[in-house]
Amino acid sequence: MAGECIFCKIAAGEVPAEKIYEDDSLIAFLDISPISPGHTLIIPKRHYSRLDECPEEVIGDLASKLGLIAGAVAQAGDYAGYNIFCNTGRAAGQVVDHVHFHIVGRHPGDKVFDRWPSGRYEEGRMEEMAGKIRKTLSGP
Ligand code: 5GP
Ligand code: ZN
Repeated sequence: MAGECIFCKIAAGEVPAEKIYEDDSLIAFLDISPISPGHTLIIPKRHYSRLDECPEEVIGDLASKLGLIAGAVAQAGDYAGYNIFCNTGRAAGQVVDHVHFHIVGRHPGDKVFDRWPSGRYEEGRMEEMAGKIRKTLSGP
């Protein structure tokens, strides 16, 4: 619900945040509980709960600033790299239901996200999944 949403309140200036960038469409500010110093959140000013509910132009606005802001975070924190991610749904760890991208600066050997549980497809499963996704993308 937009009225109760903490990120809508930050976008409206009703709740303070350490803002680092703002334009007509979006705002970027520091996460209050950082994974690493400079951990940044980029949000659209308008409320959308999930990335897949966001209009393309809003995602375009957000995406167009990711490189600029991530580069500035990396430079400010002297990071060798960064992760950018968008938790979507409780299963993926989304806590605030207002679309946001995280930018997290990384140092070599920092052990953040050091487990990447990659698996293998059973015979035929990869083609089956790709077919289902293609069908959804091609519409009804
Ligand atoms: P999620 O798990 O939904 O992807 O992440 C939400 C993020 O928002 C968390 O990393 C959390 O620390 C951050 N956060 C939650 N409330 C506030 C707040 O009031 N101010 C700021 N700056 N960050 C917040
Ligand atoms: Zn909101």
